[in-house]
Amino acid sequence: MGVKIYNSLSRQLEDFVPLSADRVSIYSCGPTVYDYIHMGNARTALVTDIIRRYLVYKGYNVKLVQNLTDIDDKIINRATELGVSAKQLAHENGEAFFEDSQRLGIIQPADVHPKATEHIPEMITLIEDLIAKGAAYVVDGSVYYRVNCFAEYGKLSRRKPEDLLAGARVEIDERKEDARDFDMWKAAKPGEPFWESPWGKGRPGWHIECSAMAMKHLGETIDIHAGGQDLQFPHHENEIAQSEMVTGVQFARYWVHVAFLKIDGRRMGKSEQNFILLRDALDNYPTEVIRHFLISAQYRHPLDYTPESLKKSEGALKRLNNCIDTLHRYSSEATAVPAHTDMSEAEAVFATAIDRMKREFEAGMNADFNTARALGAIFTLVGAVNQFLMNEAHPTGVAAALIASAHNALTTTSTLLGIYNPSEVVQGELAEQSNALVALLLEVREDARQRKDWTTSDKIRDRLKALNINIQDTRQGTTWKFLKRT
Ligand SMILES: [Zn+2]
Repeated sequence: MGVKIYNSLSRQLEDFVPLSADRVSIYSCGPTVYDYIHMGNARTALVTDIIRRYLVYKGYNVKLVQNLTDIDDKIINRATELGVSAKQLAHENGEAFFEDSQRLGIIQPADVHPKATEHIPEMITLIEDLIAKGAAYVVDGSVYYRVNCFAEYGKLSRRKPEDLLAGARVEIDERKEDARDFDMWKAAKPGEPFWESPWGKGRPGWHIECSAMAMKHLGETIDIHAGGQDLQFPHHENEIAQSEMVTGVQFARYWVHVAFLKIDGRRMGKSEQNFILLRDALDNYPTEVIRHFLISAQYRHPLDYTPESLKKSEGALKRLNNCIDTLHRYSSEATAVPAHTDMSEAEAVFATAIDRMKREFEAGMNADFNTARALGAIFTLVGAVNQFLMNEAHPTGVAAALIASAHNALTTTSTLLGIYNPSEVVQGELAEQSNALVALLLEVREDARQRKDWTTSDKIRDRLKALNINIQDTRQGTTWKFLKRT
């Protein structure tokens, strides 16, 4: 079964058929780097990462481009407030963005992260093309897009011309021919950063950068264009108008819009003063917990960031890690499956549960990347594993092979979603457990010493030493440490 995507452009669930058979291009609108990125930005970026990971799993060669808006009114205003240059502020926050994204596990070496300020010539060329086609006009060093000449304007947001006019009239700009027109190039105001252009000193508008960078790095038509729900209008509508006017071909084939993230039931926003920064969340919870939370709802559904929801994710991951850890211990002792062995009833039930999980995981992900459903499949199998292992102290034969199969299914799917990291999560738990085990052995040894049972006491010491655990009897009691393996 193939992947289906809800395309915002058609408002329908469509079969995903990329332009070329094995390559997929994805463009995702990245952050404006006037501050650190917040959890809302993180949700959009993570959804894009999950789409990428799943399509790679399905055998596609994926190229992902996510831009950084590093020149904008917000950046200029914030820099002025802070008394630094816009360039320095954008640079520092851009670096912080990479650091945070790395921690969230959403960056791959093959990704491209173009910056607006590094694509000024490409934007100027696009604007010149639009002027030449009569789709743009120059007023006092600024260049505006002439919305009237793009007949399909409004096709993505499905806004009618009269709604568009009513909305646009709020900000009256005398220089525009039509209230819906938008700027692609802004003439420089005194003291603002600027670049030279055929129309004088100025800087690019926001919409033109995505058209220019998407087409430069991915070609005239891209497969998937992703972004937050709030970008659908006017940003994405304007990207379409600019790009399609220049090329005459479809700009993006599938439009994916990620729903808002709420904080304690309220919309995250300036007026509420309730921004949660990704880096603060990552300081408080492991990466896998944040990722689990952010994909616990399908991306078009609202998601609420509350202390309880994070606790829930934390508990779920603990269950998952314990389960995988247990399976790992059993499956390392597993032997090859004897041929033509009949299954017991419990084994048959378990085998069915493993098969169902694999099918259900893919069915969920195929259905517009429904991560909630995919997670449901994973945790249903966790329950089945626990049930099965209750009566299997020393699994051999078919039971051992089934355990290896469940282990494989759970690690593959949870690693794909990025919610399982054996090196971090399990190691932490294992370390906790082995510390407790050593403490228990030392207690037993101390009891033996009290009884002057030197044979047992020495045996424990020697056997621990063989495991590179060195114990030392001091007057204050017995201490121990791990020796480095040589
Ligand atoms: Zn964009």
